[in-house]
Amino acid sequence: APCATNYQQLTPLNFLRRALQVHADQPAVIWRDLTLTYTEFGTLVRRMAHWLKSQGISRGDVVSQVLGNRPELLAAHFAVPGIGAVLNTVNTRLNADEIAYILDHAQSRLLIGDASTQAAVDNTATPTVALCSAPGAGDGLDLFAGGLAEADLDDAPATETAAISLNYTSGTTGKPKGVVYTHRGAYLNALGNVVALGFDDRTRYLWTLPMFHCNGWTHTWAVTAAGGTHVCLDAIVPQTMVDLITVHSITHMCCAPVVLYMLLEHMTDPAGQRVKVGTGGAAPTPALIARMEELGFEIVHLYGLTESYGPVTLNDPVFESGTDLQQRAKRLARQGLRHQTTGGVFVLDDAGVNVPADGETVGEIALCGNTLMAGYYRDPEATAEALGSGVFRTGDLAVLHPDGEIQIQDRAKDIIISGGENFSSLEVEAVLHQHPDILLAAVVAAPDPKWGETAWAFIEVKSGCDTDPQALEQFCRAQLAGFKRPRKFILGPLPKTATGKVQKFALRQKAKEMTDE
Ligand code: ADP
Repeated sequence: APCATNYQQLTPLNFLRRALQVHADQPAVIWRDLTLTYTEFGTLVRRMAHWLKSQGISRGDVVSQVLGNRPELLAAHFAVPGIGAVLNTVNTRLNADEIAYILDHAQSRLLIGDASTQAAVDNTATPTVALCSAPGAGDGLDLFAGGLAEADLDDAPATETAAISLNYTSGTTGKPKGVVYTHRGAYLNALGNVVALGFDDRTRYLWTLPMFHCNGWTHTWAVTAAGGTHVCLDAIVPQTMVDLITVHSITHMCCAPVVLYMLLEHMTDPAGQRVKVGTGGAAPTPALIARMEELGFEIVHLYGLTESYGPVTLNDPVFESGTDLQQRAKRLARQGLRHQTTGGVFVLDDAGVNVPADGETVGEIALCGNTLMAGYYRDPEATAEALGSGVFRTGDLAVLHPDGEIQIQDRAKDIIISGGENFSSLEVEAVLHQHPDILLAAVVAAPDPKWGETAWAFIEVKSGCDTDPQALEQFCRAQLAGFKRPRKFILGPLPKTATGKVQKFALRQKAKEMTDE
């Protein structure tokens, strides 16, 4: 039937419909020895949809996945919203308690994991748990097996503002917050990324970015929209990355700078083809960018947050011919200009006024537009605070250059970014404060050549008590994911303001001096 109206609800589910028609026999997903054409991928998606329904999942239910990059996680990006449910992708690097908190907060109805997430799933109140087996192994949920029933994807929500996914982020308050993405936002961001990175049906996209980060910055939907091939990588093993780039003639990949450092340690010769690399989540240095370009990679620098579905700025300037590599790398290290689908990126002073475009005055980056989150799940207060004024303040401090590009200088928020994974220093402090011997703990980011930053803990011990760094390390091991654990414990009195607040800037400075030594 012809369309009832030309004003249609936007949803990335339409991208798969087209790819199934046009690219039926082309490879959609490659994972280890497995290759699925778009037709076969469509079957996987419909089997998953049927299985979800058979588990009682219906419109509005939250379905969680704790999985690395593998075909089932990609399929869930279509199967779950295809039956009107909401996909909650959980970071596999979190520990069991952290995962359980997120599942319970999300009121998750069902969880799909694999053998590596067993411990986490043992701990949750989520009613149904299914573990994926390897294809053909038959020891768990095996959606690749023949003979499974398939459901149509015709229960998608009728309104584009319905939730499509949840992405939990470390709030500055310490507790993770569930960022709500909509069908509309996912559709717009994905199309913006197709344009920004130049995806088409020859794209071979290597999944070095976890799909659990902002639905892979929406590339789960974007690469599918273009009819490209998803090459899954479920663990960052540097040599495997190097091999896959060659074997599958990779054209695109995205990741945090730390992954590029690992790649460089194992890659000596340039790739045979040009590979476009979107990097962000933490700041890449000019030296890293230059080294990558020397190896034949084309760097696109991206900046964004979970609240903005990933990228809101990108930096891919058109250089005058003859611009030397060092100059190009220095310029590429800026965060750049507004992304294609971003409404507005501003740098504001304390009064909410634009700072002058002088490359010197520091202000806070603020965002507005169609591609911001709908809000925080089950947290109206935090939502009102973030979105109520009309602009979303990022907590990132930057300057505005005369040519309109932004460049990050610092952060106003209490987060630490280690290897592109974010966590709140307050969360680590809360754990330390449970220790019976600790009077006061202050956790700050210290510069680190590999991880960008790591957490350092400055500790004031209660009088008469005695503890040492090893004991504290042991204590944290039991309660915090690896990337959140302090790398150094420094015992002694903490510097305080007149009102008794710990002077974190002084501790940051001290950590910096100690690493410089
Ligand atoms: P993501 O999962 O994309 O890293 P988060 O919400 O966890 O999103 O982290 C967002 C924060 O990461 C930003 O507020 C900023 O502090 C930092 N960040 C992201 N990209 C960059 C970049 N290109 N340069 C510097 N910092 C960045």
